[in-house]
Amino acid sequence: MPESDCLFCKIIAGEIPSTTVLETDTAYAFRDINPQASVHVLVVPRTHHEDAEELAKAPQELADVIAAGVAVARQEGIDQTGFRLVFNTGEHARRTVFHAHLHVLGGEQLGLFGRPGH
Ligand code: 5GP
Ligand code: ZN
Repeated sequence: MPESDCLFCKIIAGEIPSTTVLETDTAYAFRDINPQASVHVLVVPRTHHEDAEELAKAPQELADVIAAGVAVARQEGIDQTGFRLVFNTGEHARRTVFHAHLHVLGGEQLGLFGRPGH
């Protein structure tokens, strides 16, 4: 069920505009509004799950999101050069949107990640 106050549920429903990259029966991929790499796409399950921990309780949907992320990388032409798939979960990871989403990052050499400045 869509959550009425969820930003990404509204994007999936088309109530808030987004730039579509890929659509499947269970997942929706769109460009991040504040890209952190030359390719930065978000892949979300169409049904509302708060975060990766909740999404992991629906393993088929989780697998679909990851498969869609790989398909996005192929479609964007970054599958050969390399890409990063990231779920930010909780405060230390600086997660800001409470609808599970997979970041697909690439298109250029990425930095190391972990501590700030790395
Ligand atoms: P998080 O920090 O929760 O892992 O990632 C949330 C991502 O959603 C951020 O990279 C942010 O730029 C992106 N974002 C936030 N609001 C919007 C929006 O309205 N549209 C799009 N396309 N991306 C958004
Ligand atoms: Zn939602």
